[in-house]
Amino acid sequence: MLILPIAVLCPVVLNTDVLIIGGGPAGSYLARYLVKNHFNGDVTLIDKRSVIYAPVICGELLPSEDLLRPWINKELYGVLLTTLRETLHKEFIVNNIKELNIIINDRVAATMPFRTYLIDKGALIRNIVEEAVNYGAKVRFGTTALKCVGKDNEYECVVHDRQGGEYAIRTKVIVGADAYPSIIDLSLGITNGFNPEDLIIATSARAFGKYDEDKAVIIMDPDLAPGGFAWIFPRGDGIHNIGVGVRNNVAWIGNNPLNYHEEFTRRFGLKQLQRSVLMKTIPVGGLANRYGTDNAYLIGDAVGSVIPTNGAGINPAMITAHLLGESMIHGTNYTKLMNRVFKPLMDRMVLFRRVGDPLLMNRKAMERAMKLSSRLMVSSIYDATLSSMKLSTLIKFLLGYPLIRLIS
Ligand SMILES: Cc1cc2nc3c(=O)[nH]c(=O)nc-3n(C[C@H](O)[C@H](O)[C@H](O)COP(=O)(O)OP(=O)(O)OC[C@H]3O[C@@H](n4cnc5c(N)ncnc54)[C@H](O)[C@@H]3O)c2cc1C
Repeated sequence: MLILPIAVLCPVVLNTDVLIIGGGPAGSYLARYLVKNHFNGDVTLIDKRSVIYAPVICGELLPSEDLLRPWINKELYGVLLTTLRETLHKEFIVNNIKELNIIINDRVAATMPFRTYLIDKGALIRNIVEEAVNYGAKVRFGTTALKCVGKDNEYECVVHDRQGGEYAIRTKVIVGADAYPSIIDLSLGITNGFNPEDLIIATSARAFGKYDEDKAVIIMDPDLAPGGFAWIFPRGDGIHNIGVGVRNNVAWIGNNPLNYHEEFTRRFGLKQLQRSVLMKTIPVGGLANRYGTDNAYLIGDAVGSVIPTNGAGINPAMITAHLLGESMIHGTNYTKLMNRVFKPLMDRMVLFRRVGDPLLMNRKAMERAMKLSSRLMVSSIYDATLSSMKLSTLIKFLLGYPLIRLIS
């Protein structure tokens, strides 16, 4: 029997100039950016979910404009500021957080300034999508990309549409904004992917608990969250966004990430609102080795834009979308722009994460390091949480490295 490739069997029902797969922070931002800036051609955004960005699997914490300013370089800060101003309206801020409690192995190690926002991410994304539609983008929700192939200098993607069944979309430019691993990357083999030790399995839920409404809490305990951390982010109404991030290479050994989550809620007196816990993979290995090829591009989690030291990915996803949008509007090179503006920060953060890994994986080593110098430990964690690009942070980490190797 002759088996034809899936793409050949499907009728092409839609032609577009740009097809963006995934309507999260990255994809929705890019769609809006292109149409708002008069991109010459049709822009189509598809997402597998029927309801725009629901359910939300996220801590929904965003740094304030001025929290990061002293820590990152000027050009990157400029892009960050633009993405915040374009998308973060007052009504999407659910709570203003002022401080951060760092708990290390059961003890509050420090309380530091931490002006951040707890946002309604679903509402923020819905607004970006609505604005994109108003500016002229075509949007299809409930539409899943199954496979994409290159065809005569264009691309053809087979999609499953909850209303229209299976068909193909033909496009000149294709963008994977569908998180990790991207169907575009899997179909076209753009990057080398990430190793298990560069992936975090993260859980997400809402819970009641007796925690201050203006303090975010992060818990570093290699027994509770090996290779990652647990968090409690107050929403300001007695309910907290909570979750645990566990490194993928240990997450499934004799345990599973849901058990880590259960132990975390038990130990920290958190009473969950729903029984179900949501779970997702986050890449924390820095940017992928390639960001695109021949009019096929990756943005957001799909290109590895999550900050490796803290798991923050909302703003970084928008930053990559902004840089791709800028390069498409002005006919410049996305890879060069990413390498100049964003890669230096990401390379540094991967380095910091790797330096800290032996401690994040071993409770005794963490304990010894705290005994040796809790001040250095806490200040390094704080710097890494703020994505510090300062030379002083780099020196701190490079000096700390031999010490960490010694005690771990
Ligand atoms: C538990 C958890 C907590 C987090 N907490 C924070 C936090 O507090 N602050 C922060 O800044 N970051 C946080 N992050 C990271 C942040 O959520 C992501 O980095 C960010 O949402 C990435 O945006 P994105 O647009 O690249 O991907 P996503 O937000 O994942 O969006 C991808 C979209 O693509 C769609 N899609 C996927 N596959 C297909 C397909 N085949 N066809 C069509 N559509 C598809 C999905 O439905 C989805 O809507 C957290 C992540 C997790 C998992």
